[in-house]
Amino acid sequence: MIDIVKPTLLLDEGKVRRNIDRMVSKAEKAGVQLRPHFKTHQSQEIGRWFRERGINQITVSSLDMASYFAADGWDDILVDFPVNLRQMDTINALAAQITLGLLVESVETAVALNNQLTHPVQVWLKIDVGYGRTGIPYNDAETLGKLARAIAAAPKLELIGILTHSGHTYSAASPHKIVTLYHESVVRLNTARYRLQDEGHHVLVSIGDTPGCSLTGSFGQVDEIRPGNFVFYDLMQHQLGACAADDIAVAVACPIVAKHEMDQRVIIYGGAVHLSKDMVMLDGQVCYGLIALPDGDGWGVLRYDAMLVSLSQEHGLLRVHPILFDQLQVGDVLMVLPVHSCLTADLYGRYHTLTGQEISKMRTNS
Ligand code: PLP
Repeated sequence: MIDIVKPTLLLDEGKVRRNIDRMVSKAEKAGVQLRPHFKTHQSQEIGRWFRERGINQITVSSLDMASYFAADGWDDILVDFPVNLRQMDTINALAAQITLGLLVESVETAVALNNQLTHPVQVWLKIDVGYGRTGIPYNDAETLGKLARAIAAAPKLELIGILTHSGHTYSAASPHKIVTLYHESVVRLNTARYRLQDEGHHVLVSIGDTPGCSLTGSFGQVDEIRPGNFVFYDLMQHQLGACAADDIAVAVACPIVAKHEMDQRVIIYGGAVHLSKDMVMLDGQVCYGLIALPDGDGWGVLRYDAMLVSLSQEHGLLRVHPILFDQLQVGDVLMVLPVHSCLTADLYGRYHTLTGQEISKMRTNS
């Protein structure tokens, strides 16, 4: 294993490739297009692992990310975030170069976009099927119709599809409920699709969230799926039942810096700036991460005899079972499996593979 001196983001390439392979095969078998969300890994090199498996359309969450991946040859990119009209220069630069998909949910944005574009773009309508973050309610036929007509009248805009992110699957109480929510979302999207079709607008349907796409047996009546987190998975997905512990492909290696016998506390160099502050509830207790012990070049099984119960900026505080407590020494390294891998990975400028290679990312802040 590489020499760990401070919190370090580790990546198990074998697990990443296996996770990619599983979702690609599932989509292929179902005959749906997989347009993976690249905001989780944000790495040109990992993007190429997808390309090796035949992926040629991707999703990103910002125009900067679109520019970063366009520079590596991706030429069909959907920016899955409401259009920011203050970035028209970047939009125009990208639209000149690639097939650019943009999210629109108001007539005002459609008109302003059309007036300021120098090249055509594809437009997706964001639909709210129950998450309540952004999008037009799936059953608001009037607003949908008005927007579709405005886009049809705009020469620089091509209405290509409708899409949703069913983020409410993350608060579902069971895997069964996640699958139920997934299929409810599909039905709701198709309600919107047929309303638009009645008015002569033929649109693709795109859906994307890792819990739903991982757990459903069939994707139903959709053209495209856009999950992203599945590339790494994490504790939250494991807790939801969307992955096995062994599918979690990233861990933060953290040195132990102190032990407190009285209350079996272990302090690691690994805080909110290394892990993010996302948490899950485990046995009624707030949990910021679970650990695994170093094993060979990687990490072993997920331990339930220790829990990261508190985080400050650089400190992480673990409550540890007495038997494990006695085995751990100051100076040892623990592997923390993150609660939310997208946010944890976003904190680092690079990944370290278990074979000692560095994989660069879009951000270079560490
Ligand atoms: N689409 C949108 C709009 C999203 O915001 C996200 C993630 O937040 C995704 C797709 C991918 O979902 P997941 O992170 O569950 O893989």
